[in-house]
Amino acid sequence: MSNYNSWGIHMRSGHCWHSSFPVKKKNKRSSKIPMNEKNLDLLNRIFKSGSEKEYIKSDILNERKFRKNVQDQNKIKSSPRQKTSKLDMHKKKEESVIIIEAGAHAREWISPAVGTYIAQQLADPANSDLLKYATWVVVPLLNPDGYDYSHTDDRFWRKNRRLNKGRPECPGVDLNRNFNIKWAITGSSSNQCSETYHGTKAFSEKETKAIRKLIKRIKNVELYLSLHSYGQVILHPLGYTSDEPPGVGELRSMADAFANHISNNGGRQYAVEQAGLNYQSGGGSDDYAFSRGVPYSYTVELPDKWKDGFETPPEKILGISQEIWTGLKCLLGDLVPDAKYLC
Ligand SMILES: [Zn+2]
Repeated sequence: MSNYNSWGIHMRSGHCWHSSFPVKKKNKRSSKIPMNEKNLDLLNRIFKSGSEKEYIKSDILNERKFRKNVQDQNKIKSSPRQKTSKLDMHKKKEESVIIIEAGAHAREWISPAVGTYIAQQLADPANSDLLKYATWVVVPLLNPDGYDYSHTDDRFWRKNRRLNKGRPECPGVDLNRNFNIKWAITGSSSNQCSETYHGTKAFSEKETKAIRKLIKRIKNVELYLSLHSYGQVILHPLGYTSDEPPGVGELRSMADAFANHISNNGGRQYAVEQAGLNYQSGGGSDDYAFSRGVPYSYTVELPDKWKDGFETPPEKILGISQEIWTGLKCLLGDLVPDAKYLC
């Protein structure tokens, strides 16, 4: 990424904050770059353009309401009684962490829309019970400058917008080919002009470095979801080979449970398959998270199967977001049995 920081929303048992991910250390005392005017301008444009415009119009994503909800959640957190009950509940077991990464590929607009919807639901005090059983980390837009470019210049842009040395006419790295897991082995390109250009080395990009840092820093990540489109399929590791990983049965049964939760609650039918079954690619975030010990790591190719492609009609945004959210709430009960009643 050349111009902007990735940003994340991190919610843990009642508190939430927007943050810029740590980037290149210029000053040893502070590894974070604050949200500056340039970034804020980009975010404002993102939330007022393209598919998100429909959110604002229909009051699904109401910024004022979102801010108020976050404040309310913070009040809950600061209540001593709440703290005690949380401690009692989890004194035997470390809290599970769920990471949701959205918007790695610029043109897949439904992905950040769903990520944003999930963040909004988590900030709603009506859903505060969900924060009792897991720490949720939402990265609603991993590739902001690519996403912006897909609104302003090229609807089907996929990569980020970094300038590639020696080829100014061919910018961009495919973020989902840049992770250090079988990097550049298969399903990516060393040609900077290619849509699947994997970068000069693994983790050459700020965005992928930020995810690496997140996964390394946070212990006990139980579930990692990478939201993409399209295909209406839940893909499990391994993606770089068609060989099955150890523990494939568990990976598959959790993915089947997710798909069933979605369809049993009135949502679409999502297929489940191994990512590398028909097409192999190295350097993906799902395989990376899995290689770092995350037991349940998936890429969700959001709807539809083929007709809409990347151009999800705005009227379908809410339905897709709701079905993923419902499936996720139920899936929490499979990860943390005490949370089954939330389904
Ligand atoms: Zn994608």
